[in-house]
Amino acid sequence: MHTPPLLHDKKLTVPKSFQNTPWFNYPEYHWKTKHVVIVGGGIAGCQMAWHLCQVDWQVTLIERHNELAKEASGNPIGVILPKMTSQQSLGEDFYTQSFDYTLSLLDTLKQQGKTIDWQSCGALQLTHNLREEKRWQALAQREFSNDFLQSLNEDETSQIAGIDLPYKSSYFPQAGWINPASFCQALSDHPNCKVITESEALIIKKQDTDWVVLNNDNKTIAQAEAVIICNGRDLFGFEQSNFLPNMPVAGQTTFARASDESNKLKTVIGHEGYLTPAINSQHIFGATFERDQNAPTLNLEADKLNQQQLERYLPDFSASLSKISSAHSAVRMTTPDRYPYVGALPDKDFYQKNYNDLHQGKQYKKYPDAMYQNGLFILGGLGSRGLTTSGLCAKSLCDLLNSDFLDKKTRPKLLQYCHPARFLIKSLRRNETL
Ligand SMILES: Cc1cc2nc3c(=O)[nH]c(=O)nc-3n(C[C@H](O)[C@H](O)[C@H](O)COP(=O)(O)OP(=O)(O)OC[C@H]3O[C@@H](n4cnc5c(N)ncnc54)[C@H](O)[C@@H]3O)c2cc1C
Repeated sequence: MHTPPLLHDKKLTVPKSFQNTPWFNYPEYHWKTKHVVIVGGGIAGCQMAWHLCQVDWQVTLIERHNELAKEASGNPIGVILPKMTSQQSLGEDFYTQSFDYTLSLLDTLKQQGKTIDWQSCGALQLTHNLREEKRWQALAQREFSNDFLQSLNEDETSQIAGIDLPYKSSYFPQAGWINPASFCQALSDHPNCKVITESEALIIKKQDTDWVVLNNDNKTIAQAEAVIICNGRDLFGFEQSNFLPNMPVAGQTTFARASDESNKLKTVIGHEGYLTPAINSQHIFGATFERDQNAPTLNLEADKLNQQQLERYLPDFSASLSKISSAHSAVRMTTPDRYPYVGALPDKDFYQKNYNDLHQGKQYKKYPDAMYQNGLFILGGLGSRGLTTSGLCAKSLCDLLNSDFLDKKTRPKLLQYCHPARFLIKSLRRNETL
């Protein structure tokens, strides 16, 4: 697959806590057969399926609903957009590289003849508060390719948007909106990928060299040497993954019928939330953030909050909209440091036994390389930008399964800062029991 040259400056170093770290090292994998079971048919599972099918793996994808993309990835419209920080940072690097990667992936899928409901209409991040104003000023001082990011004044913003906007903005011409279900469909549509719907994986257990995935009748749904857990808000429901810290945040988007006036909007608008141009005569905006909520329900209160937010930042636009209705409610599964989990599931007992003196800071002690629950992997905790970041995460995990980067020095940074054992190590450094 063609990956375009990155458009931004990239001289980022990995923080010290990720250097000389045997607890983040991976073994070389030797599979008897290239067959993997993936649990969860949202964007994470479908990205994993596509990447592995490209390198000749057979994939069995298990989804509990009657079709793919019914939960977080079931939002009717999401935005593909990077997240910028004032100065270059690890987080910004992650989002901008992910953004580039996803644009390139969407191109590749188009070349493969796949139909995806995706519009690269551009996105304007408004300076709607002091924090965004400061960020705009800092970004305006940095050098970016015009294709990637332009710092616009109020007139330029209004001209690009097609409606009057009293804000400066950061303009991302290649960003846009996507229907995530169509993305998932395109990714999973491959002769090597068998999709099993209406099947809930409740138990994963080791049997000889395979991992067996069982349903609530204790019946085997599928088995393989490798299993990847990609099941969104239920990532931590398995005995093998239940020790990973997690933070569910529920969210709801809202629909409104477009008017003659609102139809003039040409781009995605970002403020506290986002607003799309009219798509099939509807705008979608939101979303709400409800922390520690892992059971989403559509509710009028959330629609009201979304409407109030729109009124606050875009009063004329908001007044021009007609009928409001709920769109979608789901959980964004997040981690304490906001980076996703991408990698192999650690063997917690091994970590406890072998790294339990890390808090003593023995600089010269030689520690053994990490051990994992052999053949078990995870991709999740994608938070509120999973449509943008899941592709690069899946590519990195796919490379890991194929041992595509054995030289530890060239191992992608992403596999270090998204390592599933990073919070175990943090606890051990603080002398906390796991
Ligand atoms: C309101 C809202 C707006 C958002 N807007 C954006 C946006 O504009 N841009 C962006 O980049 N991101 C956005 N996101 C975030 C993005 O949608 C998520 O990060 C992403 O969809 C997460 O994908 P996932 O595959 O990890 O989880 P999910 O999409 O939830 O997929 C998990 C799947 O696993 C299945 N499953 C769960 N347990 C089991 C089991 N035991 N057995 C079988 N199947 C199981 C579920 O049914 C589900 O289909 C938004 C999220 C929300 C909630």
